[in-house]
Amino acid sequence: MKKMNYSEAKELLESRGIDVVKSANTHSLRETVSKAEEIGYPLVAKIDSPDVVHKSDEGFVETNIENEEQLKNTYEEMKKRAKERAAHFKGLILQEHLEGKEIIIGGKTDSQFGPVVLFGMGGVFVELFEDTSLRIVPINKEEAKEMMKETKAYELLSGYRGEEPVDTEKITEVIVKVGRLMTENPEIKEMDLNPLLVDSDSAKTVDLRIIKENGDD
Ligand code: ADP
Ligand code: MG
Repeated sequence: MKKMNYSEAKELLESRGIDVVKSANTHSLRETVSKAEEIGYPLVAKIDSPDVVHKSDEGFVETNIENEEQLKNTYEEMKKRAKERAAHFKGLILQEHLEGKEIIIGGKTDSQFGPVVLFGMGGVFVELFEDTSLRIVPINKEEAKEMMKETKAYELLSGYRGEEPVDTEKITEVIVKVGRLMTENPEIKEMDLNPLLVDSDSAKTVDLRIIKENGDD
């Protein structure tokens, strides 16, 4: 079993029409500063390390970075702490800072049922609320919509108490696409898009984890 690195996983998702937040991998302080200019502030910086699985739990995700000075501090700080923790520091993943609601869409290969897709409220709330639904692939748009409606999260997404609804159509499309990706790529054993940030006209993945059997990376 092998975890795909960030840029490979991003490429795979994008090739299947699944949106990933505008982002860049950097390998030095200089490159970090120049790529940040291309993405634009405010941005998010995350450690790029094969050794850190739960990045935010260990303080390796810094959101809402507003300027070059904060960015440089974040770079030095993460590099230092990675060293203290004996984690390999490849550099940073820089991302545009998005606003929106957090959802999770995941896929895994069940030993009994084959590929299944999961939907739920994402980010840190996944475990807290246990508010998810599951379907065996293939999943069409209707079924994807039903999956969403089965969760309490749906109420929050579809305009709770006068809030602007998020683009639920876009979310159903991502669920369908993840189902197809799992079916057509049996070497993918597990994938987690957690979270996608969704708003009234987009659904973009900001964290991705794809586990392949015998992958190259
Ligand atoms: P991990 O799951 O490894 O802790 P994530 O990349 O999921 O790391 O980031 C943790 C949290 O940081 C997310 O759940 C989200 O709340 C926030 N976050 C991450 N990336 C972004 C982004 N690009 N824009 C806004 N918030 C973000
Ligand atoms: Mg995450």
